[in-house]
Amino acid sequence: MWDKLWYGATIATCAANAKDYGLLKNAGIAIKDNKIVWVGNINELSSDIHSLAHELINAEGMTITPGLVDCHTHLVYAGNRANEFAMRLHGATYQQIAEQGGGILSTVNATQQASFDELYNQSAVRLQQLIANGVTTVEIKSGYGLTAAAEIKQLEVVKKLAQNYPITISPTFLAAHALPPEYKNRADDYINYVCEETLPHIIKNKLADTVDAFCEKIAFTPTQVERIFIEAKKYGLAVKLHAEQLSDSEGTQLAAKYGALSADHLEFVSEAGIAAMAKNNMTAVLLPGAFYFLRETHQPPIELLRKYHIPIAIATDCNPGTSPTTSLTLMMNMASVLWRMTPEEALRGVTINAAKALGLNKTHGSLEVNKVADFVLWKINHPDELIYNIGSVQPECIIKNGKCSRIKAKKGNDI
Ligand SMILES: [Zn+2]
Repeated sequence: MWDKLWYGATIATCAANAKDYGLLKNAGIAIKDNKIVWVGNINELSSDIHSLAHELINAEGMTITPGLVDCHTHLVYAGNRANEFAMRLHGATYQQIAEQGGGILSTVNATQQASFDELYNQSAVRLQQLIANGVTTVEIKSGYGLTAAAEIKQLEVVKKLAQNYPITISPTFLAAHALPPEYKNRADDYINYVCEETLPHIIKNKLADTVDAFCEKIAFTPTQVERIFIEAKKYGLAVKLHAEQLSDSEGTQLAAKYGALSADHLEFVSEAGIAAMAKNNMTAVLLPGAFYFLRETHQPPIELLRKYHIPIAIATDCNPGTSPTTSLTLMMNMASVLWRMTPEEALRGVTINAAKALGLNKTHGSLEVNKVADFVLWKINHPDELIYNIGSVQPECIIKNGKCSRIKAKKGNDI
């Protein structure tokens, strides 16, 4: 006998082999031992539904989607950059902002100086917001610590968040995010430090399952990234890359060479880069929040990604400098309005394709038998409404591992 059966809903399964929502009307979903054991049209059930499950839940008027997967965030940081945002709008140049201690290094300073508890408490607010917005799986990167001690502190905070909240967290080590000022003009030395001092500790304490880097003229070269990827692979970690956000550095091809799960941003990726992704079964992770916030005009090549059948994921990129948001439904709307992604692509981008970007698509990201019971009930008639309403539809109920985990968003947060 099943543990629970929700019935009478519209269900967007986002099944792996479907191309669209995988939509079912007058549908039901049953779970047992925190796994999905049946999903389909209610009329397919031969017996009286009362005899099938211990608990029946009437979900008429609801649309059920997989729990949302946010596959690219920098959620653990201290402070915020609202002041810098305002300075820019008052006409300050990047130079002036940098002179006043702004930019990514201001977040690095705040994160280094914050105590473990301060960092945990500030980050927990954002995690609660993500959960309240329907996210049941999230990736969180380090990269605002840079020193071994501060990177470890960030990832220890991630670990504690994973223990305390009803959400699956995929932790990523991103020490090659920015060059610390003490290593100015010595980027190779910093990469050595990361590989020899920080990474071994991360591995020993199992603080990350994936290694990421920022490959860009203002960050690290493909050669420097490769050094880190070689080390990561040696320890059996997965890799992924911030690639082609501001220019084409051919980081995507490098990521493909090392079997990366995903290349992320990709506004300036070339067709050769996309072909390399296709050959290596990679996912493209697109980040409309950063595109919007930076008033970027060079769009990621959606048509080319479609032509090469690259799975496209969408994420919040939640970070204090370029994408201070915790709403994946808003990101879906932006991807559709700014880049003309279809609503079906947008929902698959935050479910099955986002799970694939994390290497979790066998167990998460769609409503199919044997997958974990992670799903969201929304009080809407059709999944189009999720994307159409500009980031304003809130979950009615969130099921994580078979249990209801509704958490109300806290007001007065710092993003
Ligand atoms: Zn990022």
